[in-house]
Amino acid sequence: MSSVRSSFGSGAASLERTRQGLDLPRPVGLRAMAAAYDREIVFDEPIVTDEPLGGHHTITIRRDGSWRYVGHMRATGFPSFEFSVLATLGATIEVPGAPAGAVQLAFSARGEVHGTNEPGDREHSWDQQGHSPMLAAGWESFRHATLQRHVQFDTDWFGPAGDVLSFVGQVVVMGSLFGPIGVAIVLVGEAADDLGFDSLVLPGTVGVLVSAGAAFVFGPAVLIPVFLVGAAVTAALVKQRHLSDEERAFADRVFAGRVPLDRVMLTNLVGLGGRPFTAPGPGGTILVNVGHGYDDPVRYTGNGGERLGVNAAGQLLIHELAHAWQIANDTFTPAYYCKALSTAIGTVGGDMSAYTYGPAGQSWGSFGTEQQASIVDEWFAGKLFPEQDGAPQRQRAFEPMSSDADGNAAPNPYFGYIRDNIRAGIV
Ligand SMILES: [Zn+2]
Repeated sequence: MSSVRSSFGSGAASLERTRQGLDLPRPVGLRAMAAAYDREIVFDEPIVTDEPLGGHHTITIRRDGSWRYVGHMRATGFPSFEFSVLATLGATIEVPGAPAGAVQLAFSARGEVHGTNEPGDREHSWDQQGHSPMLAAGWESFRHATLQRHVQFDTDWFGPAGDVLSFVGQVVVMGSLFGPIGVAIVLVGEAADDLGFDSLVLPGTVGVLVSAGAAFVFGPAVLIPVFLVGAAVTAALVKQRHLSDEERAFADRVFAGRVPLDRVMLTNLVGLGGRPFTAPGPGGTILVNVGHGYDDPVRYTGNGGERLGVNAAGQLLIHELAHAWQIANDTFTPAYYCKALSTAIGTVGGDMSAYTYGPAGQSWGSFGTEQQASIVDEWFAGKLFPEQDGAPQRQRAFEPMSSDADGNAAPNPYFGYIRDNIRAGIV
C-alpha cells in the first residue's frame, strides 16, 4: 500500500440549504421554516483536498430516522485517484442526571476517479438512502449535530474491505471522531456494508476487532471502542470465553434460566472510562465485558479494575448479566446504546445518579436500564454490599437474595421484581 494522504473538514447545516432542500418558496415564514426544520435537516459542504481532487456531499436527515447521503468526487488534473470518504454526524445523547454521551452516525462512500492520464470517468457520484432507529431515537440531538468529514485518497489505496475498518480505526485513534468522549459509532448505508466484519474478527473471538491500535466490540452495525485496564490493547492480550459450568450455575441462582447463557461471551475488555459494559454482539451473541473480573467473575469483588472490595463477590457479573437479560428479553433497538452506554459514560466522573432508583412499587418498565441492573445486583448482594460513597444502598438491610421463601415476615421489597419480572422474563 502506498502512502495514504488524507484531509479533514467539517461543515454545518445551513438554513438556506434547508430551505432549498425542503422546496419551500422564498420568502418563507419563520413559523413554516421552523416547522419544516423540525422534520428535515440538511448538512452540506464542498470537499476540498490539496490534490487535484475535490467534490461535494450532502447529508439529509429526517425526524422519522430516514436519511440520504448524496455526493460526488472529481479528478481535476492529471492523476487518477481512489478515494474513501467517511462522514460522521456527532450528537450527544442526554441522560437525566448524568453528563451527555456522544454517538457518531457514520456514512461512507468510495470509488475511483480518472485523471487525464488515463481513460475513464473523471467523476464518481453516490446516492445512498436508508433508515436508522438511532437517528429517530436521538433526533433532538442529531438535529443540532456537527458534520465531520475525513477523506483518504491515493492512486492505489482502497482495496480489501479491511481497509475500511483500518480507516475508521485510524480516525478514532486520532480522536477526530470523538473529541474527549465517545460512546459508539453507528454505521449506516455503505459504511455498514463495507465493513466485512467476518474477515476482520480477531481470531478466536466473536465480535472483537483490533485494528490500527484501536479496538472495538461490535454488534449490528455498531462499533464500540474498548480498552484493557492498565495496558494498550493488542490482539494477544484480548481474552474471550464462554461461561464455565460453575458460572452458569451461579447466574441461574438469580436469573433462573431467563438469561440465555449459551449466547454470553465474557471478555477482559472495558469501555470508555474503564467501565465494564454489555452489548449485543454478532450472530445473537451477548458480549459481557468485565475487565479484571474476567478470570474469576464469581469471586471477583472489583468494578472492572484492579481495586477490589468495592462490590460483593460476583456482584459485577450479576449486574452485567442483568443487562444481558435486558438484551435477551427486550426488543432490541439501537437506542439501547443511547441509553445504556451514555449512562455508563455518565458515571465516569463518579456521578452515580443514573444508578439510583426509587422505592419498590412502581412498574419494572419504568426503571432505566442501569436502575434495573442495580436493583438486581443489590438484591443479590443485600447486606454484603460494601460501603460506597454516594451509591444507592436501599437493599442493604436484607439478607443476600432475600426472598419470600425465606420465611421472613418482610422480605426485601425489591424481590418482587426478581420473581415477577426477571424470573418470568417480563419486561
Ligand atoms: Zn450497568
